[in-house]
Amino acid sequence: MPDDSLLEARNLVKHYPGVQAVAGLSFRVQRGQCFGLLGPNGAGKTTTLEMLEGILAPTSGAVLFDGQPLDPSYRERTGIQFQATALQDFQTVGESLAMFASLYHRRADRDELIELCHLSDILTRDTRKLSGGQRQRLLLAIALVNDPDLVFLDEPTTGLDPQSRRNFWGLIETVRRRGKTIVLTTHYMEEAERLCDQIIIIDQGQLIAEGQPQTLVREQFPRAIIRLPETAWPGATPLPSAALVRNGEIEIPTAEVPPMLDALDRAGATLTALRVETPNLEDLFLKLTGHRLRN
Ligand code: ATP
Repeated sequence: MPDDSLLEARNLVKHYPGVQAVAGLSFRVQRGQCFGLLGPNGAGKTTTLEMLEGILAPTSGAVLFDGQPLDPSYRERTGIQFQATALQDFQTVGESLAMFASLYHRRADRDELIELCHLSDILTRDTRKLSGGQRQRLLLAIALVNDPDLVFLDEPTTGLDPQSRRNFWGLIETVRRRGKTIVLTTHYMEEAERLCDQIIIIDQGQLIAEGQPQTLVREQFPRAIIRLPETAWPGATPLPSAALVRNGEIEIPTAEVPPMLDALDRAGATLTALRVETPNLEDLFLKLTGHRLRN
């Protein structure tokens, strides 16, 4: 892939007293990409994101934007949807947007932003009276208020119900189609799989995988995973060589499903509760980190 990076992390390190939160991370975010930063709790995602955002100074290493070290203009060209943003009390959605817009020289077209983030019906609503999905849409609009080139979304759908989450994914896709570069953290593998062109997985402050979600999964797994309850296996018979036992289930990765099903049948396994699944990012994440993401 030719390099057209907008953002680069160059050997980023962050120490806190007694903790090495980030232990030398290097990666590039290409222009126009939705880039996912994934990792288990405590992996160093927030610390990395804050260094990329220019909020936290690295102990060593550098962040480059458009090939240059960060300078005061960075703030004008980036937008951040924080996990928790305090909104001013006694303000409507419209007033809140206007207040944030006043902090920047660069401005997005207000009407377009309201339409994009589906805010027209709630413009006069007090920001304390918003549903979770409405609040996240306002916070996204605030992140876009200065028409940034680069947008950071820190766990934007955490706490939303499945319907609102899917609606929000549609919004993120629209933002990306409009040419914005997006850096996203999420605990939902389905979200990363759907939205991200490129991901990195970090653990203990180090990069453990980097690539396109589908490619990474294909590299690490055969075509299918057969799962059946542990109790479905006849006790005395040895398991197939690639099988893993996890959480009361037997997992058998296989490239050829029908012959494996025959073999399981011949071995005397009970196949009634068997499932054949296509490996996904969640499987990859578990394999690489040994942790299950909270959801
Ligand atoms: P989560 O998914 O739980 O939010 P994370 O991947 O974002 O985790 P970080 O918050 O970046 O992880 O934390 C990485 C490590 O650095 C953890 O061990 C954490 O306890 C530690 N850490 C983070 N911030 C500080 C701080 N201000 N002072 C000391 N240690 C910190």
